[in-house]
Amino acid sequence: MRLLITGGAGFIGSHFVRRSLGDTRPGHDTVRLTVLDKLTYAGNTANLPLDHPRLRLVRGDVCDRRLLLDLLPGHDAVVHFAAESHVDRSIEDASLFARTNVVGTQNLLDSCLRTGVPRVVHVSTDEVYGSLAEGSWTEDHPLLPNSPYAASKAGADLMARAYWRTHGLHVCVTRCANNYGPYQHPEKMIPRFITNLLDGRTLPLYGDGRHRREWIHVDDHCRAVQLVLEKGEPGATYNIGGVELSNRELTGRLLRLCGADWDRVTPVTDRKGHDRRYSVDDTRVRDDLGFDPAVPLDAGLAEVVRWYRDHRSWWQPLTEPVEEGR
Ligand code: NAD
Repeated sequence: MRLLITGGAGFIGSHFVRRSLGDTRPGHDTVRLTVLDKLTYAGNTANLPLDHPRLRLVRGDVCDRRLLLDLLPGHDAVVHFAAESHVDRSIEDASLFARTNVVGTQNLLDSCLRTGVPRVVHVSTDEVYGSLAEGSWTEDHPLLPNSPYAASKAGADLMARAYWRTHGLHVCVTRCANNYGPYQHPEKMIPRFITNLLDGRTLPLYGDGRHRREWIHVDDHCRAVQLVLEKGEPGATYNIGGVELSNRELTGRLLRLCGADWDRVTPVTDRKGHDRRYSVDDTRVRDDLGFDPAVPLDAGLAEVVRWYRDHRSWWQPLTEPVEEGR
């Protein structure tokens, strides 16, 4: 079995790779992995066991058609994580998001079709649904993305559906809640708050802090993606949920874990178009594929705080110059 993992040097993709290489189930302990990654600011070779005999890293762009047509033959499946992934960056400039997330995904799907790759999992996000005051989205809910990031992911999801419906390509889409875990770039909320706390800086909390998100440990997300890869129905979409918290509640937990008080928190101007609440109904992935998340939020957050405390040399070079109040 040969798998090609796009974006495998990023936060979630690299977790999937490390997890796959550690999978000791018969038939899985021989899987060979090709990571295709552009190594943008978010990709980091330090996230990968580069000397592992079953891992090959190829530096390249999912928009590079010639490279894909060259690389894909012989692979049994593709798991597509590669994306521009930070909402704030998409608000500053959405052009790379349209290019990588929409055009890159279309290019990948088309190249899989042409080279006969039999299975693709496209990794997407709950943000494609928009924002909702109460209840939860099922997979059939219309897509109403609000940020340029979410819109580019929604465009990619629709392209995946079209390649299944039009060409019969075996594609599944996953739409997961917010992930947390080790190796997440410190531009994202949880690692940013933890590293700011470790460095004695303040925590920039957007608006009134009452925005609600679901949180799932990256290992649970990757287990769900693995299940979809092994057992997902062609053309199906699978929501993957987490534990719902307001940003204030999450901040309170991180402060407690780091032994700090609310005087470390600075409210800052809200993000433009900031969605108030996300919530997915993930009955399908649980009932049809037997998914059952294993990492309790409190234990997972405590482990992540410990990881950032113990891995300063990994994150310190990635932290921007201090921007107080952001
Ligand atoms: P990340 O930003 O940490 O990693 C993205 C990776 O993609 C990086 O290694 C980067 O170098 C690579 N990449 C970017 N552009 C590329 C290109 N043109 N060609 C090849 N590689 C390219 O992102 P992440 O948090 O690991 O997210 C992975 C996927 O999961 C994304 O598709 C994201 O939309 C989705 N997702 C993320 C979350 C989350 O909470 N982080 C939640 C749900 C879904």
